[in-house]
Amino acid sequence: MDSLAALPPPSERRLALRVTPEAQRALRQGHPWLFDRAIVSQSAAGQPGDLAVIFDERRRFVAIGLYDPASPIRVRVLQQGAPAAIDAAFFAGRLAAAVARRAALAGQETSGYRLVHGEGDGLSGLVIDRYDRVLVLKLYSTAWLPHLHQLLAGLAQVAPAEAVVLRLSRTVQRQPAALHGLADGATLAGTLTANPVIFRENGLRFEADVLHGQKTGFFLDQRENRARVEGLAAGREMLNVFAYTGGFSLYAARGGAPAVVSLDSSAPALAAAGRNFELNRHWPGVAAARHDLLVEDAFAGLARLAKAGRRFDLAVVDPPAFAKQQSEIPAALHSYRRLAALALGVLRPGGVLVMASCSSRVSAEEFFAAVDRGAARARRRLHQLARTGHPVDHPIGLAEGAYLKCLVAVAEE
Ligand code: SAH
Repeated sequence: MDSLAALPPPSERRLALRVTPEAQRALRQGHPWLFDRAIVSQSAAGQPGDLAVIFDERRRFVAIGLYDPASPIRVRVLQQGAPAAIDAAFFAGRLAAAVARRAALAGQETSGYRLVHGEGDGLSGLVIDRYDRVLVLKLYSTAWLPHLHQLLAGLAQVAPAEAVVLRLSRTVQRQPAALHGLADGATLAGTLTANPVIFRENGLRFEADVLHGQKTGFFLDQRENRARVEGLAAGREMLNVFAYTGGFSLYAARGGAPAVVSLDSSAPALAAAGRNFELNRHWPGVAAARHDLLVEDAFAGLARLAKAGRRFDLAVVDPPAFAKQQSEIPAALHSYRRLAALALGVLRPGGVLVMASCSSRVSAEEFFAAVDRGAARARRRLHQLARTGHPVDHPIGLAEGAYLKCLVAVAEE
């Protein structure tokens, strides 16, 4: 908490920006990013978090947002169309709308979900995840730092919590001068009494390591796909590739899979998967399922299992983002194709393949086509059951933000 005291207050200065006609059009249509290359003129050099006001050539207001001198996304737009004061009340309003959007989700059975999904909730570059009574606030831009006091004031009003923990993207961690002593894992409000934090998702209990876990501790975006897997799992031996802490594995077990194998290259993640099974033994399916852990590279592991003659009736393949930039797309598509072929190599006829991609650079069409090519390579026919996208707590704020896609298909003979 005193770590916050060192943060400077928001600057009184307003930067005035003129931008290209194309950028004006995009902003007016609600695009939340202004790129550095679209700036035509600027009234002064800006500091991280300065409020930047974008005008058109007739000096009319276009948009206002947070200035980030270190990023090609130079302004994170907060409001377009009509001017607005960016203060605690503004943030409280945006946060209240985000909370309302998730009203149907939050409750006894699900106490872990995304409360704020950046651009999708009108708060570009900011993510807030709830894990029961703990909030994890993740920043993707240093521009948020001077506004944290006001943001936290708004948050305390609309989503009171025992503790608010700060997580920083890698890009933000590389800019220590802009952090004023704040570090990844700092407690911004309240007290974190225990880590990992236990929360519920559809009645299953999971731990989230909010200080060191990937993302903010759990992959909350897969909740609906996991529920789908539960419905498909009865009587099926399941292989969960890229299992992390066993999210899909637990749902399969509760759904009646007699045996579950969780495979991941991270030993600590799989250790957590084992603990998550222990946390849920009161569910008969979980108590009855055999659970095996494989700490292994996914590609090598799948090839090894195939060679050893291991076969499954349900395979979930949920890899990390393979393409973080444009130049990596071909290699990513190649990896998706290989993974699909490898997974089909361990699926019995009639087995179900669930395969997801979280690479925002890879379009849904390209991804599904890559999986189809993998199936052709493996000489298997896929009968599609469903294609899914974003859950309600991960609203899409801009086309580039539609990162999640998932295929559910039966692998025929
Ligand atoms: N399906 C998970 C989320 C997967 S995140 C869930 O529902 O929670 C991606 C996972 O892939 C991470 O746990 C990471 O440790 C693992 N991983 C990354 N590269 C890998 C590789 N080459 N082989 C196996 N696992 C890998």
